[in-house]
Amino acid sequence: MSAVDKPSDNEKKLQPPSSPAGEIDLGSNSREEEEVEAGAALPRAWPAPGESPTNESESSLAGMSARVIEGLIRKSPETIPDVDPSLHYLAPHIPKRAWTALGNLVAERERCTLQYKIDGEHWISLRLDGSGFSRAVKALRKLEVLEPEGFSYKFADCMQASLVHLMEEFHAVLGFTQSDEMIVFVKPTSVVRGERQAHFYNGRVQKMSTLASGLVTAKFLTQLGRLCFREGKDMEALAQVLPHFDCRVGHYESWDEIRALLLWRAYDCSVNSVSDAVYHTTGSDKKTMDKGTQEKVSWLASRELLPLPQHQAYGHLLARVRKEVQGYNPKTKTEVTTMRQVIKTLPGPVLERFRDASFADPSMVMNPEH
Ligand SMILES: [Mg+2]
Repeated sequence: MSAVDKPSDNEKKLQPPSSPAGEIDLGSNSREEEEVEAGAALPRAWPAPGESPTNESESSLAGMSARVIEGLIRKSPETIPDVDPSLHYLAPHIPKRAWTALGNLVAERERCTLQYKIDGEHWISLRLDGSGFSRAVKALRKLEVLEPEGFSYKFADCMQASLVHLMEEFHAVLGFTQSDEMIVFVKPTSVVRGERQAHFYNGRVQKMSTLASGLVTAKFLTQLGRLCFREGKDMEALAQVLPHFDCRVGHYESWDEIRALLLWRAYDCSVNSVSDAVYHTTGSDKKTMDKGTQEKVSWLASRELLPLPQHQAYGHLLARVRKEVQGYNPKTKTEVTTMRQVIKTLPGPVLERFRDASFADPSMVMNPEH
C-alpha cells in the first residue's frame, strides 16, 4: 500500500484548525444532500455558487484552506462498494462549492499579484532573459553547430529572429536584443470614439509574461534546432540543457519613462560587449580584465580586433516603421503605392541615437529615413 492510500501518521496527528463554533459543518454534507441543497438557501457555511464569502474564514486564503484541510482530516477517504481501496485513493468528500470558493480565492490572489492588468494608456515592456545559454552555446560550439569560437553570428541570428517574432506577436513598436536578452516596447493603445482601447490579452500581466516567455523559448529552440538539422546533428545537446527565457513585465506612463529601460540595457551592452571581446581573446589576463572600458577598447584596437561585430558591440535595435510599397490593384488594373508598417533594423550605437532628435517617441510610427 503506498503512502497516498490513506492518511499518513502525520496527517492523523494533525488537529483540526480552530474556528468559530458552528461555522463549519463538514461532516454531514453528502453528495445527496448537496443535490438537495442546490439552489436552496444553504444552512451551511460554505458559500453557495455565485455567493460572496460572508465571513473571514471564507474570504481569506488561509481561512478557506484551513477549512478544507479540516474537512479532509475529519472525514475518511471515500470507498466504493466492491472496489479495493488499495487500487485507487479517493479523498474524503468536500463539497464542490468549497473547492470552487477556494479556487476563486487563489485566482483572485494571482490576479492581484504584482499588477493584474495594465491599462491601455500605459506603455508596456516585456524583458526576456535567457537561462542556460552559456551551457547551450558551449555544447553547440563543440558540436560545430555554432562557430567554434568568438562572436556567434548564428546565435545572434536566432535571437534576432525571435525578437522579430515577439514584436509581431505583441505589435511592439520597438525591440532590442543583446547578449542573451531581448526587450520589446508596446505603445499605449489608441482611443476610439473617446474610449481608450485595452492592450493585448486585456493587459493581463501574467498572461503576457507567460505567453512571451513561452513563445520566445519555442521560437528560439526551433531556430537552434534547424541549425542542428542543417549540420546533420541531433538535438540531444539542446535537450540536455533546455535553454529558455523568463520574462519581466513593466508599465510606464510615457516614452520619457520607458526609454530608461532601453538606455539601461544599451549601456549594459556597451560595457559587457567590450569585456566579453577581451575575455575571449587569447592573451587577455586578469590585469586586462580589470581595466576600464576605454582601456579595453584600446587593448582590442592594438590587436586590430576592432570594429567588433555590430550586434556584439551595440546590440540589435528594431523599430516598426512606415514604408512605401508598390502594389498592383487587380480591380482597377493599376499600379498603386501604399504605406505599410514594417520592422526595420536601426543600425549603430543605440546610446548615440538618444543624442539625435529624430529618435523621439516611437509611438508615432517612425519614418523610414530614421
Ligand atoms: Mg541570462
